[in-house]
Amino acid sequence: MRIAIAWSITIAAFLGVAAPLGAQTPPPASTLFQNVRIFDGTGRPLSEPSHVLVRGSRIERISSTPIVSDRPADAVVIDGGGRTLMPGLIDMHWHTLMVRPTPAALLTGDVGHLNLLAGAEATATLMRGFTTVRDMGGPAFGLKRAIDEGTIAGPRIYPSGAIISVTSGHGDFRQPFELPRVLGAPQSRGEQIGAAMIADSPDEVRVRVREQLLQGASQIKLTAGGGVSSPHSPLDASTFTEAELRAAVEAAENWGTYVAVHAYTPVSIKRAIAAGVKCIEHAHLMDEATAKLIADSGVWLSTQPFPDEIVEVYAPGSVERAKAQAVLAGMDRTFTLAKKYRIKVAFGTDILFSAKQAQDQGALLAKVTRWYSPAEALAMATGTNAQLLALSGERNPYPGKLGVVEEGALADLLLVDGDPIANIRLIEEPAKNLLVIMKDGKIHKNTLPKGP
Ligand SMILES: [Zn+2]
Repeated sequence: MRIAIAWSITIAAFLGVAAPLGAQTPPPASTLFQNVRIFDGTGRPLSEPSHVLVRGSRIERISSTPIVSDRPADAVVIDGGGRTLMPGLIDMHWHTLMVRPTPAALLTGDVGHLNLLAGAEATATLMRGFTTVRDMGGPAFGLKRAIDEGTIAGPRIYPSGAIISVTSGHGDFRQPFELPRVLGAPQSRGEQIGAAMIADSPDEVRVRVREQLLQGASQIKLTAGGGVSSPHSPLDASTFTEAELRAAVEAAENWGTYVAVHAYTPVSIKRAIAAGVKCIEHAHLMDEATAKLIADSGVWLSTQPFPDEIVEVYAPGSVERAKAQAVLAGMDRTFTLAKKYRIKVAFGTDILFSAKQAQDQGALLAKVTRWYSPAEALAMATGTNAQLLALSGERNPYPGKLGVVEEGALADLLLVDGDPIANIRLIEEPAKNLLVIMKDGKIHKNTLPKGP
């Protein structure tokens, strides 16, 4: 008994010390952007020259006439010189822990090293102007905490926790020698690090979903069909049964949030929608009837303009490479159908296993202009994406409005050296063209030439 008490005191003391670690210096009391034209995140044309006052973490005032700061001593004044002020970009399909390592390093490497790689990539992500990412699977909780505490710079993270899959499904990276799986036996490596969890019945699905929610998942991610990067799942395979999907939806909805599923094919998409899933990821192999179903049911489509280079991270002649090619071939049709049926489309990139490709995160948004206007593409990656983030309801880790420039919204802002509607390719070179990057009211970058 005495030992138990001593232990709990020790743990409490430890937690007490742990909590304030990395407490950040408070943001400036206020920042005043003068003479900026605003892209407000809705797709409307740029505003007339305006002035925007940020106080703390929020946009306090927007005015077409000069704003006189009531506390000029501690206000940072940024003369925008007629440049564009827009919301920070949002990537709705990101894997913070899986961008930089190779697949082998992810599954066999040291977890500390993986987290340090992810931290460096998170800072790079923010410096590309992406102030928020929705993490669609992987052990991102620790990284999220370190960013939120201010220990390292990075985007806001909406974590899903582990990808939940079935035995043989997308996300099951086990080798045949690890079979059979016995209930209660030690977990596989991917499960131990929280990258993916295997569930083969509605009951197991409920456990896995609730485990992610316990850790702070803002939404849940399941794989409803085969995928590119996993060795065992053919693209045409459907994995979870409708009852299993429904168990996940029920557990997530009981917690006030929603389920998103990875699904390429009509069968897997239809089954997910029937089970109450609110967001389909990818859908690169969908047909016309499925597009219509997505539109009619009001479900979100979170899809990606994959770069041709995605095939290159897989070995020539490999099954994974062939699957990547099949998905690429369906991309044009998917975007075309999405536009035709006015599906609610969210923008994301899903860049995996390539720090080099991650540098093209903005270029991939520019690629959306093959199907949508520049204003529509920019709205997709800001205001529209934020509407999907809001589906997390009470589980939203960052209450407040994101993706828009309006009074009261959270102050995630970019000052662009030019007009991104006239030239969306400005966002392809963030180092050069994003002169100010602000997240949560804090300036993370300011390379504006100093005035006289
Ligand atoms: Zn993904």
